[in-house]
Amino acid sequence: MADDVANPDLRVLIPADALQARIAELAAAINRDYAASERLIAIGVLKGSVFFLVDLLKHLTVPLKVDFFQTSSYGNATEPGEVRIKKDVDLSVRGADVLLVEDIVDTGYTLRTILSLLKFRQAKSVRLCALLDKKARREVEVPIDYKGFEIEDVFVVGYGLDHAERYRNLPFIGYLQ
Ligand code: 5GP
Repeated sequence: MADDVANPDLRVLIPADALQARIAELAAAINRDYAASERLIAIGVLKGSVFFLVDLLKHLTVPLKVDFFQTSSYGNATEPGEVRIKKDVDLSVRGADVLLVEDIVDTGYTLRTILSLLKFRQAKSVRLCALLDKKARREVEVPIDYKGFEIEDVFVVGYGLDHAERYRNLPFIGYLQ
């Protein structure tokens, strides 16, 4: 049975209730770990992480600020893994505890770039919270401190993730057959 009348090839990988249950668990761990933090900034990576970031933040009880990066990889780059910052954060991260919130870690290049930029700007601490980990595709190692789900090497959509800008609004993670 198809999950979207507009696309009979779309299948559910992680249902909405499983996403929400796991996000509540991640938030509980984050609340514990940052209980003593004096300056926490949660940074989402646009656009894919937005749904995850919002649902996660609704569970967080620690005082925090929210900001965003937007990145893109160069289409036909001669340098593999070269990542462009399309939108930088507005806030200064110097001396702050940064919680980076990402939808999916694939090759790892995007997060390696952002993590090194945050360290260069002298964030006090940087931790990564990623909803999905496509481990089989990793080319550079990035430490994931809070991980939602490990998934197989399939192209996923929904819950913020797109295919040509479609499917972001699905409440579940799906894949196209
Ligand atoms: P990385 O730099 O780790 O290779 O790529 C991370 C970015 O690639 C993610 O933020 C996401 O935008 C995109 N991406 C990687 N795998 C998928 C996938 O399966 N589905 C979608 N929609 N985007 C993906």
